[in-house]
Amino acid sequence: MRQFGKYVAETSAVSAHENVAFIDLQTQRRTIRDRLEGAINAVLDHGQFIMGPEVEMLEQRLTAFSGARHAIACSSGTDALLLALMATGIGRGDAVFVPSFTFASTAEVVALVGATPVFVDVDQVTFNMSVRSLTTSIQGARDAGLRPRVVIAVDLFGLPADYARLTPVAVAESLVILADAAQSFGASIGNKRVGAFGAMTATSFFPAKPLGCYGDGGALFSDDDETATLVQSLRVHGQGSAKYDTVRVGINGRLDTIQAAILLVKLDIFESELAERQIVSQRYTDGLRDVVQVPDVGQDRASAWAQYTIVTNARDMVARALQDQGIPTAVYYPKPLHEQLAYRDCPTDPRGLPISEFLAGRVLSLPMHPYLEQRVQERIIEVIRDVIART
Ligand SMILES: *Cc1c(COP(=O)(O)O)cnc(C)c1O
Repeated sequence: MRQFGKYVAETSAVSAHENVAFIDLQTQRRTIRDRLEGAINAVLDHGQFIMGPEVEMLEQRLTAFSGARHAIACSSGTDALLLALMATGIGRGDAVFVPSFTFASTAEVVALVGATPVFVDVDQVTFNMSVRSLTTSIQGARDAGLRPRVVIAVDLFGLPADYARLTPVAVAESLVILADAAQSFGASIGNKRVGAFGAMTATSFFPAKPLGCYGDGGALFSDDDETATLVQSLRVHGQGSAKYDTVRVGINGRLDTIQAAILLVKLDIFESELAERQIVSQRYTDGLRDVVQVPDVGQDRASAWAQYTIVTNARDMVARALQDQGIPTAVYYPKPLHEQLAYRDCPTDPRGLPISEFLAGRVLSLPMHPYLEQRVQERIIEVIRDVIART
């Protein structure tokens, strides 16, 4: 998700006349341009660029939206995860269980606090952490002399992880559940929204995420008052009750006021954008379910549809055919973390990670955003069906 330039710059022609964006932020901007400019100008006028009033307003809106008791705005999704781990007080010798099929941030923050990431396999249908693999990974970590402390459940592509089945395992092992909801803000299970499923939930406002600002941003959610107070201190260099009172080692983890102002405007249209994403994903599913593996969100769940990701043995052929028609695609993720140079020596599920490896070779994410037109989607579906029919 890092190469943001890709989403806006590298659009190419479907015909001589039109562009298809992987994630279309310009159409969104056109619909709220005046409000965005008004909000940004208001910050330039009052001049409180750091921790200005919009930051607190955003935090209130985020708690109302998510149902979590506390929302703490911060500098990125990665920093939200880092602040959460710092708040747990873990360090050397502690094991943190993370899926291997995810973005690098999920494991990076574990290493940064001096703990050990232990890579767990995922489920082939949901792409989220396999509870079975978590169980064997916990045993493996213990056998290796590590102390199991935290599990980071990633809501990959916008679909909440299986918290109902993860929770009893976490309770039995006294693990803290940290939800990496960087891709899933706005998603839900039953009538509960993302923000309320782990002891702490981290989200990202990176521009390409379902709710994105125009730079880096994130938030941490928790229902626990003590955790919230601790994270608020960690976010500002471990500040105590007075400004230059430093009571613990923290970071500079604040969200810029301008980004908060932008997010407040975007939150006003977020519900309707989520509804549009649902319509777009359903059109893909209806058009593709008989030729490739399509996302299955299951009963009682709503994805935030950060990505619409198919699984097919013909992945590279499909990607090339779409590229030839000027339709961009992306592979999230071509290499699972346990195979990356930086994490190659970390422990894994002792039974291996076959599903993560299988998916890395077969996943393909299609253009996905609330402004994708039916006509363009029909074209994308037709190209994919043609390629599969020829294999
Ligand atoms: C984007 C992302 C992050 C990091 O968010 P940033 O705001 O870019 O730091 C963490 N985890 C996952 C799964 C992500 O997709």
